Amino acid sequence: MTDTNAGSEDFPTPSDADLKASLTPEQYEVTQCSATEQPFTGEYWDTHDPGMYRCVVCDVPLFDSETKFDSGSGWPSFYQPASDDAIDERVDRSLNAVRTEIRCKNCGAHLGHVFPDGWDQPTGLRYCTNSAALRLDPRQPGQQG
Ligand SMILES: [Zn+2]
Repeated sequence: MTDTNAGSEDFPTPSDADLKASLTPEQYEVTQCSATEQPFTGEYWDTHDPGMYRCVVCDVPLFDSETKFDSGSGWPSFYQPASDDAIDERVDRSLNAVRTEIRCKNCGAHLGHVFPDGWDQPTGLRYCTNSAALRLDPRQPGQQG
């Protein structure tokens, strides 16, 4: 493989052609072109089901439903990632603002942005994501992990 964003052995990243075939146009636009879905329209902004939110591209666990909260933004919001090395943060100076973009560390998929305004949350952070970048892996009641 020569792709620089080929992902890890456990979570290989599909080729661009495969992504175009497997993702919806919106999922592709968000994860590959850093688009933002319209608020209050995504699949998960108002979801409260227990489970693990995985990267829609490479399936890596990104956010646990335990850390999801209602931010009122219309996008799925979490106060921390599922693990310390799940997320890549980088400065985003688009739209005449300085924001911190969050990406899947494994495959580079654009997820959204992180803001320091989760005032009532344990970390004080709000990981504001696009539903289109995530896939909820439901957890049965009583099941671990
Ligand atoms: Zn990924």
